[in-house]
Amino acid sequence: MGLSETDPPVPRISVVTAFPNIVKGYLSSSILGKGIERGLLDVSVVDLRGFADGSYRQIDDYSYGGGGMVLMAAPLESALESAADGEDRYVIYPSPQGRPLCQELIEDLLSIASHRRLVFVCGHYEGVDERFVRKNVDMEISIGDFVITGGELPSLATIDAIARLVPGVVGSFDSVKEDSFFSGMLDNPHYTRPEDWGGDKVPDTLLSGDHAAINRYRRREAAGRTVSRRPELLAKAGIMPYLECGVYVLELHHPVLDRNGRKSTTAITGMDLHDIARACRTYGVRKFIVVTPLESQRELISEVVSHWITGYGAEFNPDRADAMKGIKTASSVSRALDWINGKEHRPPFVIAATARERTGSLSWLTLKETALRAERPVAFMFGTGSGLCEETLDSADAVMSPISGGQIYNHLSVRSAVSITLDRFFGFR
Ligand code: SAM
Repeated sequence: MGLSETDPPVPRISVVTAFPNIVKGYLSSSILGKGIERGLLDVSVVDLRGFADGSYRQIDDYSYGGGGMVLMAAPLESALESAADGEDRYVIYPSPQGRPLCQELIEDLLSIASHRRLVFVCGHYEGVDERFVRKNVDMEISIGDFVITGGELPSLATIDAIARLVPGVVGSFDSVKEDSFFSGMLDNPHYTRPEDWGGDKVPDTLLSGDHAAINRYRRREAAGRTVSRRPELLAKAGIMPYLECGVYVLELHHPVLDRNGRKSTTAITGMDLHDIARACRTYGVRKFIVVTPLESQRELISEVVSHWITGYGAEFNPDRADAMKGIKTASSVSRALDWINGKEHRPPFVIAATARERTGSLSWLTLKETALRAERPVAFMFGTGSGLCEETLDSADAVMSPISGGQIYNHLSVRSAVSITLDRFFGFR
């Protein structure tokens, strides 16, 4: 997520409500109150009744055609104008018919609140006059498929979630980053004193003082919970920090098919080297292994790499050097896999990618879950030329179903296929 931890602009929020005490009560007695006091958030509450006409201070009336009461458009609009007070505003109406709230939406709202005032308009009874919504509301948000009596709790829940993302509001921003949904995964379970509660003990690892082991335990618990409780979250979760071992990308120049379907050897290309190395570095892949049996080609790769990591290139573009350091060569697939095995002390789980439909291939989402459960390094194998040959595909632990744009034409470059795959597996929202 793209939140900056330095000098964040103060988010500005207002709540228009017929029940200001409910909102003020929560705001003043929660962690949010402290954040507001310390100027980390600017939250104001506007009493809708202060904008009612007539001596009855009427803010609602019967629903045309029958039904309960509805909040009237005119007082709502006056209250809204007062809340925004000429500032650029973004109006939110919490409604069971709105867009379901989720972490990404909360992050977007924080980002909007940093340059426009977010104004929450709380409905009641049957809701608010639809003409007010049509004219003024930018987004309707829902806290779930159920109905509660008013918009105050949904507004407060949303503001609370936004406030947690403002550095300083919650004691440790690092703990916020480990909360459920921040990286797209669920959090691990937590325990506190006593160590032994009626015979139910805190897991030994957490008491061991071994930080590496504690981290491993937590990641494993979080991954296990996500897979068993909310597997659908995996589609958008960045799973790299939760894997037991490293991830590797193999680009095969042999054996691959030529246009006539014959086994052949392809030449390396500069664009592949640079672009795949950069993609691998971006997504946290440990090594990009270029497989070619031709010694002259491996030497050429070493020359290119050394230009970028030690020669003039390193001075000219240190970021590129960083990516190019991740390149390694191997003379065959088995040598590459043996090398990974030696490094990680476990054989890699090999996922082969092909643009051809093939019986037994599995969706990237199923393979993402498999990678998370594998407790082994993961090696993605991509072919050049016209793709990997049958025998290589057969040798892999799994073949990934083709990346597809839904067209008959399906000719992605290997660079594109690598980037799309890495983003699906390891992309951080
Ligand atoms: N007649 C409306 C409907 O069925 O869509 C429900 C009105 S509800 C009783 C009154 C107010 O509570 C709504 O205008 C809204 O502001 C708020 N509200 C109720 N349930 C909500 C939910 N799940 N998410 C967000 N806001 C909700």
